[in-house]
Amino acid sequence: MKKDFYEILGISKSADAAEIKKAYRKSALKYHPDKNPGDKEAEENFKLAAEAYEVLSDPNKKAKYDQYGHQAFDGSGGFGGGHGGMNMDDIFSQFGDIFGGGFGGFGGGGGGPRRAKGSNLRIKVKLTLEEIANGVEKKVKVKRKVQAKGVTYKTCTTCNGQGQVMRVTNTILGRMQSASTCPTCGGSGQILDKKPSEADAQGMVVEDETVSIKIPAGVVDGMQLKVSNKGNDAPGNSIPGDLIVAIEELEHEFLKREGENIHYDLYISFPEAVLGASKDIEAINGKVRIKLEEGIQSGKILRLKGKGIPSINGYGSGDLLVHVNVWTPKTLNKEQKQFFEKALNDEHFVPSPEKSEKSFFEKVKDMFS
Ligand SMILES: [Zn+2]
Repeated sequence: MKKDFYEILGISKSADAAEIKKAYRKSALKYHPDKNPGDKEAEENFKLAAEAYEVLSDPNKKAKYDQYGHQAFDGSGGFGGGHGGMNMDDIFSQFGDIFGGGFGGFGGGGGGPRRAKGSNLRIKVKLTLEEIANGVEKKVKVKRKVQAKGVTYKTCTTCNGQGQVMRVTNTILGRMQSASTCPTCGGSGQILDKKPSEADAQGMVVEDETVSIKIPAGVVDGMQLKVSNKGNDAPGNSIPGDLIVAIEELEHEFLKREGENIHYDLYISFPEAVLGASKDIEAINGKVRIKLEEGIQSGKILRLKGKGIPSINGYGSGDLLVHVNVWTPKTLNKEQKQFFEKALNDEHFVPSPEKSEKSFFEKVKDMFS
């Protein structure tokens, strides 16, 4: 039987984010492997606390846990059934977020030296409005630094694989000991042993790789997506950096995006405005037919609900706003000219804007909802 996450951290179900964090900090300090060398029970408690915090600190996971208990995470990847789902690396990488640099005082924790991370790669992906509206999978070619085939690394002798060196300095307060990154291995704890001739001084080669990027619907120009571990690798027992994907939105021929809404300028003829008309609008995913009432005014905005861009958070979609523009003829034949000259003095042609256009709006809205 698995212990309750709230029980593990010694808090009540009503604890807020700050209390959860505080309780976790307390448990983590108490059971930290550096403080309890060789104590299996402490290590177990340390892992349990980390797992409890991982869930309770995330509002989505917490809500699931509150509703379904441990079952919520059984068989769902990441958390699996047991605490085996979290390894020490995960736990220590979590510390950076919670405790800032302060936790470094424990000498890097029980997991040995922190694994070095390769540098990030950056690319730009250009997307059409259609791709943004529907989400898209893009394949991009990146040049990644990877460890060459046949390269081997050995434990750094300067730091004995710890990645850090201790330095003792005499100060007015007495002897002070401080840790700093090993200058020989750069913190990875390993140095190059053997390398093939084509590799660089760190045993790396550059390779072309095609990376598939799933881009969710609703992304915005300038937004950055992260593809974990698809950046450059680093020497030794390290983890690759990330691939940072910057989104660039291509301008659409006639649709203008504004947040989740899309604007479309519709031009209709004077007779169409007078008599009413059916018009096909080129919306984001094909044609949409709209009906224009007779006597429609220039400047009217028709709202087609849900025909805009989906929200990036997955909650609904924006609207398509159709701006009605009445096209005034610039040249007329003699007969037409006479008609309008007569109309100048006709009461039907005298502007008389209605006070409230709302009823009209509601009608149009109802028509498309
Ligand atoms: Zn070293």
